[in-house]
Amino acid sequence: MKSNTDVIVVGAGPVGLLLACELRLAGLDVVLLERRSEPVRDSRALGMHARTIETLGLRGLAPHFLERGRPFGVGHYGALETMLNFSALDSGYPFQLVIPQSLTEQLLEERARELGVRVQRDATVDETWQDDAGVHASGTVGGQRFTFSGAYLAGCDGARSAVRRQAGIAFDGVEAGTTTMLGDVQLRAPLPAPALMKVNQEGVLMIVPLGDGVHHRLIVLDARRRDVPVAEPVTLEELADGARRIAGCDYLPSQARWLSRFSDETRHAAQYRQGRIFLAGDAAHIHMPAGGQGMNVGMQDAFNLGWKMAAVVRGQAPQGLLDSYHNERHPLGAQLFRNTMAQTALLTSFDQRGLALRAEISGLLTQPEVNLKLALQISGLGIGYGAALSEPPAPVLPEWSGRRIPEMTLADGGSLHGLLHQGEWLYLRLREDAPHAVACPGRLRTVSAALAPSPDLGASQAELMAAGPRALLIRPDGYADYALA
Ligand SMILES: Cc1cc2nc3c(=O)[nH]c(=O)nc-3n(C[C@H](O)[C@H](O)[C@H](O)COP(=O)(O)OP(=O)(O)OC[C@H]3O[C@@H](n4cnc5c(N)ncnc54)[C@H](O)[C@@H]3O)c2cc1C
Repeated sequence: MKSNTDVIVVGAGPVGLLLACELRLAGLDVVLLERRSEPVRDSRALGMHARTIETLGLRGLAPHFLERGRPFGVGHYGALETMLNFSALDSGYPFQLVIPQSLTEQLLEERARELGVRVQRDATVDETWQDDAGVHASGTVGGQRFTFSGAYLAGCDGARSAVRRQAGIAFDGVEAGTTTMLGDVQLRAPLPAPALMKVNQEGVLMIVPLGDGVHHRLIVLDARRRDVPVAEPVTLEELADGARRIAGCDYLPSQARWLSRFSDETRHAAQYRQGRIFLAGDAAHIHMPAGGQGMNVGMQDAFNLGWKMAAVVRGQAPQGLLDSYHNERHPLGAQLFRNTMAQTALLTSFDQRGLALRAEISGLLTQPEVNLKLALQISGLGIGYGAALSEPPAPVLPEWSGRRIPEMTLADGGSLHGLLHQGEWLYLRLREDAPHAVACPGRLRTVSAALAPSPDLGASQAELMAAGPRALLIRPDGYADYALA
């Protein structure tokens, strides 16, 4: 079987699904190849952070997720006693949303199918190559060989990415040093609080409700069993024993729905692009799931790449635009590498010195500005992209180039983010004296409107009002390319 398409996406995890949606929204033909015959049922990622919710909101999808998840106003950094205060975040979503990854994937797959993505399950890619004509992926579906050819291919095929391996992209980092157990279980003894976190010389215990009113996620880093290989199955007894020793009491876990073990192996792809091949999500970066970031950062990768790839395939942007994907996202992968390694160091030192270090840093986190700095990092709200990708026609307000544009109400009562639902660039003329037209690499929508003053503006909204730009050119992923002075 031979077939052609615009873009081949390998892997229908949250990252591949979101990327496929973005490409299809822009009108491209997209084939999404997934080795599993059925969607994943295990909960995996539970925390969806503020910037990811905003991202979904930029396409009008946030309500579907909000109505199925549960907001949680705090987060953790290395399981330190002082929690990250997400309620201080300057966003319409000042929390993390507890929603199982299985549900996130279900909602994204529904959207992908509605948009017309060609989702092919039971399709394992084992070979990818590129030439002057395009990029190609071969594999098997239902015992039959297939080959798809396209202009570009995205490897969203997870930690053991075949696409990355085939492309020969280095994936250097740090070997696994510690393994941690987890179980989605029912507790027969009541918890003293809705969630629980405990760290002592016996290890680390975290218990959070899964949100279905029945199950809890137990995470147990047992100091006596940290060397158990990641592939060794977890038993309920092993999980319960570790939890009991760390907690000093027994919450009687039972009826395990999912038991697993994960490691702190940390790696980062040397390049996110090789010619026509791109990496996103776990295919590009793996780490200890500390702070709940892997899926979130991966979905931001997809959101950065999708509109760029679409603009180039449609002939609206030069190929060079695609280099900005690596340039913008690779430094954030490097930061993810550092912050998860730092958290791992905090999470795996159980002697008196390690516990003293934890207490000191936990003390620092009681300072609101320190707490906010880490909350911005973990929530994804703190990122910006610096330089403009297009040429401004007039002087700009430099501090706004590459900066996240907050949701704003327009003078007619409409929503600014609502103008980005179709994934186009937005040229927002805010004053009469703004140029009537600008150039940008992609589909452009031009709207003349004013921002509505309101007494309860957040800090970034108030800052934008005070800056008073004549016009804003906003990228499809919700960052300002520039603001005209
Ligand atoms: C216990 C745990 C808790 C976590 N908690 C959080 C959290 O709270 N927040 C957070 O942001 N992250 C969290 N993570 C991380 C998160 O689960 C991952 O970062 C996320 O799954 C990455 O998504 P992805 O789409 O890149 O890869 P994956 O989800 O791994 O999807 C890759 C897909 O590609 C398919 N595939 C692989 N090879 C091929 C092939 N050759 N051909 C075709 N298809 C292929 C796979 O079947 C899979 O469906 C957690 C992880 C763990 C283990």
